Amino acid sequence: MDSENRKTRVLLDLDGVIRDFVKSVKKVYKREYPDHAIKEVVSRELHNYFPIGERINEFIKDKFGEEILLNAPEYPGAIDGLRKWEDKFEIVIVTAQPDDWRYSTYSWIGNHYLPVNEVKIIYEKHTVDGFALLDDFPDNLELFAKTGRLAVCMDRPWNQDWKGERVKTVDEFFELVHKRIHS
Ligand SMILES: [Mg+2]
Repeated sequence: MDSENRKTRVLLDLDGVIRDFVKSVKKVYKREYPDHAIKEVVSRELHNYFPIGERINEFIKDKFGEEILLNAPEYPGAIDGLRKWEDKFEIVIVTAQPDDWRYSTYSWIGNHYLPVNEVKIIYEKHTVDGFALLDDFPDNLELFAKTGRLAVCMDRPWNQDWKGERVKTVDEFFELVHKRIHS
């Protein structure tokens, strides 16, 4: 790996890890329904937290998807975390997106100057070559871990059932991977 100056290839999810998708949904929702109270989102079942219930899905997918994606903020420090480690790692974004959302996702990555070597829009992240995966969705992590590789959970309210490795920041993820390689 490092001995031949080849960078270690690592995979990072985008939404829930680097891009704060939920915060962006809430912001647009509050504008459209100023008098609705949103509950804290603690699972991926968004309809449980927004007063319009199941209609939140079409709200996101059909009505405001592009705006929500393009204007979503980063999680504080996430992009700096990538910059700090870009010289040591080959950074690959692996993100599951409906076909229509690819364009705003590529735009977001460019608009925010993400220092990444590759972007893969893919649902089966465990089929992608890479030493480790950082993701906020336990199903992705479980499939990845089954391939014998390092699966690391980005700590969020909706993934508290994951029992494996867990970090709170992007920087902490790279620290962990770095230690594994050099131990
Ligand atoms: Mg995610």
